[in-house]
Amino acid sequence: MTDKVAVLSAAPDPLLTSLKRPRARVRLGTAWPNEQRYVLDVLLGEHLGLSYEIEAVPGLSWVEIDFPDIKTGCRLQVGANLFLRPQAQWLSASATPVLPLENLDCRAVVPDWEFGSIPVLFPPASKPRVGSAEKDALFLPVDIFGAAFFLLTRYEELVVKGRDKHGRFCARDSAGYRAGLLERPLVDEYSRLLGRALRVCVPGLEFRRHPARIRLSHDIDHPYQFFHKSTGHMAYSAAKELFRNPSLRRAWDLARAGACSGFGGDVLSDPFNSYASLMNAGEALGVACEFYFMTVQRRGRYEEAYDLNKPELQELLRRIHGRGHVIGLHASYDSFSSSQTLKKELDFLLSSARRAGVTLEAVGGRQHYLRWENPTTWRSWEQAGLTYDTTVGFAEHVGFRCGTCRDFPAFDLLESRKLDLRERPLALMDATLKDYLKLGPEEMVNQMRNLWAAVKGVGGTLEVLIHNCNPQGPWLARQLCSL
Ligand SMILES: [Zn+2]
Repeated sequence: MTDKVAVLSAAPDPLLTSLKRPRARVRLGTAWPNEQRYVLDVLLGEHLGLSYEIEAVPGLSWVEIDFPDIKTGCRLQVGANLFLRPQAQWLSASATPVLPLENLDCRAVVPDWEFGSIPVLFPPASKPRVGSAEKDALFLPVDIFGAAFFLLTRYEELVVKGRDKHGRFCARDSAGYRAGLLERPLVDEYSRLLGRALRVCVPGLEFRRHPARIRLSHDIDHPYQFFHKSTGHMAYSAAKELFRNPSLRRAWDLARAGACSGFGGDVLSDPFNSYASLMNAGEALGVACEFYFMTVQRRGRYEEAYDLNKPELQELLRRIHGRGHVIGLHASYDSFSSSQTLKKELDFLLSSARRAGVTLEAVGGRQHYLRWENPTTWRSWEQAGLTYDTTVGFAEHVGFRCGTCRDFPAFDLLESRKLDLRERPLALMDATLKDYLKLGPEEMVNQMRNLWAAVKGVGGTLEVLIHNCNPQGPWLARQLCSL
């Protein structure tokens, strides 16, 4: 340890003054090459901003990283576990974390580490023998790459079979929830630890910085509550809302809005017309809001079918686009496993937007009800030609289902390949706070503050879903602006 502290305080290699991010060389075992390259691309490439070359070494049971162009410093050895598993164990319960997890006191490796201990999803399968060859190496006793792969690819969702009534994997079945880690972006903490350990080995290294921000997105399940609706539909919608939030005040507001918007044709007084408030919040946060529209043509048990070609919705598309915000797809309840259905819905969105004079490029969006199946949904989104997905968060719990608050490339675990699709993992949905966690206003703000602190701690994006039809939506958006 004393030697490593000495390395830390040594002067940077002269080459580093001109070459802050030298090319890394990564030596690793030969199993699971596509999987290992994928996670190296994310952690070394995207998170740390390093370029690297791989050297496959048969029988190597840890990962070694060094910088051939830098003559000073030492190698980093990182524990391995998941990628040492044989085919027979892959995607089985035996290749998932064993609870309770151990915690690694990172200061034993990185003396100035200020973020406390880190949970170890996978301990190293073996440790390098300390001999003359290992004297110039620092060992990080945690399988960072295997754990990040496990979290990013939602590996456990192909192992655990339980689902809720909408076919969704439940938060309570996840290792993150059971270990109390859902609200920690553990992958981002791991990559920070990796970077800091590399800097102990080679002082002066610099890594990519990740600014923190909040991004709002809005699933448009019901564009308007009363506008151009039948009397029966208006009565049903008002009764449904009053059943969930019974109050005389709300009943009066709904009656007045129904009279003005439904009977009077004043779209501005419609309760679901919160678009301007949401866009104001996005502009205050300095990010474009994302509005995801449904284009399913037949009403279903869990969804309304509305026509984007109607004049008021064409006008809405123009208004959103005109203010610099983003239009995307809210894919229907049944589309999560069908690229053909998705493609049809995407084509409808593109043609409706074109009709409104809006050309959409690089379209993304989210599945209705957060229905998502691994890897079918990601694969379908890629095949349909969508660019990014923002579905992968839990309905019943806030936090980081993929262990990260940074967007990342999706990976198909069954076809063993990186997909041409980015995931923007959802951390917080308005309905989660009220309907699932049953939080009051103050607790909601505390919850948002905690998540924002976690995102700011590592640098990333707090992805927040607020429905336009949520009466509390504009208030929630304003609270986010004042965090
Ligand atoms: Zn929806």
